[in-house]
Amino acid sequence: MAGLIKRDPQLDRIRWIDNVPFWGVHLTAVVGLAMVGFSWLGVALCAGSYFFRMFGITAGYHRYFSHRTYKTSRFGQVVLALMGVISTQKGPLWWAAHHRNHHKFSDQPEDIHSPLQRGFWWSHMFWILVERHKRADMSKIKDLTKYPELVFIDRFEILFSIAYATALYFAFGAVGLFYGYFLSTVILWHGTFTINSLAHVWGNRRYQTTDDSRNNVVLALITGGEGWHNNHHHYQRTAKQGFFWWEIDTSYYGIKMLEVLRLVWDVQGVPQHVRDNTEAPGRTRLDGDESEQLAA
Ligand SMILES: [Zn+2]
Ligand SMILES: [Zn+2]
Repeated sequence: MAGLIKRDPQLDRIRWIDNVPFWGVHLTAVVGLAMVGFSWLGVALCAGSYFFRMFGITAGYHRYFSHRTYKTSRFGQVVLALMGVISTQKGPLWWAAHHRNHHKFSDQPEDIHSPLQRGFWWSHMFWILVERHKRADMSKIKDLTKYPELVFIDRFEILFSIAYATALYFAFGAVGLFYGYFLSTVILWHGTFTINSLAHVWGNRRYQTTDDSRNNVVLALITGGEGWHNNHHHYQRTAKQGFFWWEIDTSYYGIKMLEVLRLVWDVQGVPQHVRDNTEAPGRTRLDGDESEQLAA
């Protein structure tokens, strides 16, 4: 296990200049909304763009690229990568590498975004904005870097977001651009970020995992099922994060639909002994070891 990461004034400095686009998207959303005014079409575009791209993040970046909980074709991989990359949350390789670190060290000193270790706002977004996390640790994603098309998408990630925003503008005008891209992206960012921040402090703990992850229905509804985060830390090998029928997990329903259409396969479920936690204590923390295996 790696040693405790020492805080470094240079590496942990927030890159204010580099991050102008991050704050700029927030500002543009507000200014754009004031300019175009209220629009029902805008609300629909904002919501549609939000849930479409949230699926790219949860089913693609998270459950496929980070955890490999189901299989798809090489073409299917590209589609998932593109659906995720237009969320403007960096590329699939960057995302998966950092996420695997989170599972390996969840809520330990080495965890890159633990609210317990570094505070709420750090875990929510500031960790993304520092020098230390600008680049991905490629040793954690060797299973993904062997695909040149994924490396390409990761490298030129911002171009895909620009293309997406431009397409919305040409299709729906200023309403498409400001509601469908800018406002939707800001809400999508903070919706996603709640899983790193709130889902480790707010909710119930069904399983006594070694971290402080929680299950939370509100977070599950806004993130397509990612709010069942304690379930997920308990057992990360499944594509399913709502372990019981009442735990709404729309990303999982989407993945199952794709399975029916034979676009994805080998969708991993939850073994009953894992769900009921009847296995021997000490075997509940499957996460860190798992991500090591994936990268090998
Ligand atoms: Zn995960
Ligand atoms: Zn977590």
